Amino acid sequence: MRSRSPFLCRKSTKPAAWHTRPEMSVIQMNAAVITDVERIDIQSLERPTLRPNYALIRVAAATLCGTDLHQYGGKIKTPLPRIPGHDFSGVVEELAPGHHKFHEGDRVVVKPSFPCGKCEYCARADYGSCEDKKLIGLHGDGCMAEYVLAPIANLVPLPDAVSFEAAANLEMFTVAMNTMKRVQPRLGEWVAVLGQGPIGLGQTRMASLSGARVIAVDVRREALEMAREFGADVTLNSTECDVVAEVKRLTGSGADIVVECVGAKATVDLIFQLARKEGRVANVGFQVGAATYDLIPIMLRSLTIHGVGGNGGRGQYETVIALTESGKIRPERLITHRMPLTDAAKAFSIAHKKSEPVLKVALSLNAGPNRPTLARG
Ligand SMILES: [Zn+2]
Ligand SMILES: [Zn+2]
Repeated sequence: MRSRSPFLCRKSTKPAAWHTRPEMSVIQMNAAVITDVERIDIQSLERPTLRPNYALIRVAAATLCGTDLHQYGGKIKTPLPRIPGHDFSGVVEELAPGHHKFHEGDRVVVKPSFPCGKCEYCARADYGSCEDKKLIGLHGDGCMAEYVLAPIANLVPLPDAVSFEAAANLEMFTVAMNTMKRVQPRLGEWVAVLGQGPIGLGQTRMASLSGARVIAVDVRREALEMAREFGADVTLNSTECDVVAEVKRLTGSGADIVVECVGAKATVDLIFQLARKEGRVANVGFQVGAATYDLIPIMLRSLTIHGVGGNGGRGQYETVIALTESGKIRPERLITHRMPLTDAAKAFSIAHKKSEPVLKVALSLNAGPNRPTLARG
């Protein structure tokens, strides 16, 4: 059984009757639905209906994220069937009354962690501090559907100069904003970024923008090429060189900052060999059960460790959209595969198996006349 959720869209059981009065008819939408481990079906479901303080968003573009793939592969367990996805952009189709900041037809990005609406922070409208935020797509149905409900508090206006596709791919930069705010890179400092998947590439770009010198580490040639495009000063392929020796040679005493974006034991162990004494470390990557910290080297090297649990939810999306508008970041460059929603099964399979070089896969929705398109502007 599918769990009850405020974002729930139930499969319609009503027969299509020609005599149904228009105002009583159920509006259907297409959605990509995880129905079993590694199985996605396109289903026709009831379009969600508006509720107080929510907007109905006509989804324009969505991207697949590691969380979606863990859910698809069964590593993250959620009740099935479920519509996955949380990284998306679209147009306000309907708006609950009483809100004046947004209007129907506005282009928007949706911050993906929805506030609970019940805790003391939510009562004060301090939604960024909500004690019980829920990621759309995990805790309820997500964005890989033609329509999705989102709290109006989570909407961020999208300037015309930012494409829907770019706007659906901001998360890695928002996580990097949250990371940089914590590790505070200074002009000319050395930042080693371990792992150049989408999350690591976001860190590389933001560290570079901050004026630090960036050493990007990965095992994939194409990922390191993208890291160079994103501003890495040095790229190291750990299958081809001794990363510890190279970082020591470049920096003298070690990197001022190490950002770990893999979560594997090998890369977590590497932190202590790469960071200089008194260095700062950010833990961004995770693999369940893969790595633990040894406290002794943290103490002996007087390291400061920052856990980065997400995008932070306080202005990061707004800033990243502004940086995209000004051309300082180009989220669309990470997208290697583009498909319509109807090809979601193929999209998940490619992204999950990584049978071909893939960074980000984008799904386009609601194409056609008077519909949002992926085109810029
Ligand atoms: Zn994500
Ligand atoms: Zn709350």
